[in-house]
Amino acid sequence: MNSKTVKFGGSSVADGIQLQKIKNIIEADPERRYVVVSAPGKRFADDNKITDLLFLCKAQADRNIPYEQLFHVVMDRYRAIQYNLGIDVDLDSRFETIHMALQEGCTEDYIVSRGEFLSAILVAAYLGYDFVDTQDLILFNSKGRLLAEETNQALSAELAKHERAVLPGFYGSYQDTGEVCILSRGGSDVTGSLVARAAGSSIYENWTDVSGLLMADPRIVDDPRPIEYISYMELRELSYMGASVLHEEAVFPVRQAGIPINIRNTNAPEDPGTIITTESTYDNRRILSGIAGKQPFTVINIYKSMMNSEIGFVRRALAILEDLRISFDHIPTGIDSFSVVIEKEAIEDQLEEVISAFEQQLHPDDISVIEDIALIAVVGLGLSRTVGVASRITTALSAQGINIRMLNQGFSEINVIVGVDAADFRPAIRAIYDAFSE
Ligand code: ASP
Repeated sequence: MNSKTVKFGGSSVADGIQLQKIKNIIEADPERRYVVVSAPGKRFADDNKITDLLFLCKAQADRNIPYEQLFHVVMDRYRAIQYNLGIDVDLDSRFETIHMALQEGCTEDYIVSRGEFLSAILVAAYLGYDFVDTQDLILFNSKGRLLAEETNQALSAELAKHERAVLPGFYGSYQDTGEVCILSRGGSDVTGSLVARAAGSSIYENWTDVSGLLMADPRIVDDPRPIEYISYMELRELSYMGASVLHEEAVFPVRQAGIPINIRNTNAPEDPGTIITTESTYDNRRILSGIAGKQPFTVINIYKSMMNSEIGFVRRALAILEDLRISFDHIPTGIDSFSVVIEKEAIEDQLEEVISAFEQQLHPDDISVIEDIALIAVVGLGLSRTVGVASRITTALSAQGINIRMLNQGFSEINVIVGVDAADFRPAIRAIYDAFSE
């Protein structure tokens, strides 16, 4: 029987009202057989996330500061859900176990993982699905790196025994000790992806509180169009430049298995959301998929006559950055010059050190620094089959009187990166968006 894996984020399991919505969503499609849940998130802007409260409980316990009150807030959130929906499960004995573990000095990962654990217990009982704990199924090495193949085998073998199941997101265990190990924040997205792959699901539905990705940031562009389809490759470009909707690592397991991800909105289930899929199956209808941007960046320009014939020049410059553990974002090059574009925060404290190392080791004719640059990525597989993309961008920007400090298009032609002064960031995004809205 076909299956779909559905993952519900913190806001989708925040209270009884949200859980009723997810039940309706699941029951509307019998193929939605594997359900991954986060811990309850915020119900309103100033609310607490259970995960944050659990981190805090552990920090208080470690410092011998009373944490009971906080732990009560946690228990009350679950009790309210249980009471409102009339779910028949024994929460008290589980609370007792967690409380004891806190007193006995258990690990932070264990305590924090209980947010997802309790959430999955409640949701499984509410839906009448089996509860499948991910502790022994999602496996990490002793350094906390996910063991993808071992995990896939363990998960597939277990899922084969359950026609319908609810699994907690966010954690697994160290393969050698069996102790709980958590993923990074937002990691339930990764669990969902691992489950979808192991179950061989036809789709991984990631239910959240927005109806997918938009072509631009709605805080900058009025009413941007939703993205219906996007390739994994384009998503990666957009996320890198700041458009975030999914945990970065969630893409890999399903991408490898050729399973599309559908970002959906629990509060508007009728919206189709965004489908993220492999390049080969991607139905490319538009030139531009999206625009995203990041700032501020610092740009170091290095000029040396006859640089193009000096072998190893750029490598030596990059080795200096490597030695100082500074990662760079771009290196646009000219004939006798090149620039290194680095996030301001990453170089701020070491700028002088870098400049003097460049001067001493590269002997350039000139070095200059430009600060507060914004980078805008114009992303779309369609860019490569369209003539005149750069001219559309430059025309739109010059019409607004915006000076282009840098323009970079790689041979992949999946994106064009435009550098402008940070002050021009928002108007530049608006101008480019308008130039491509067909
Ligand atoms: N509850 C965890 C967090 O807040 C994991 C997740 O929701 O994906 O980061």
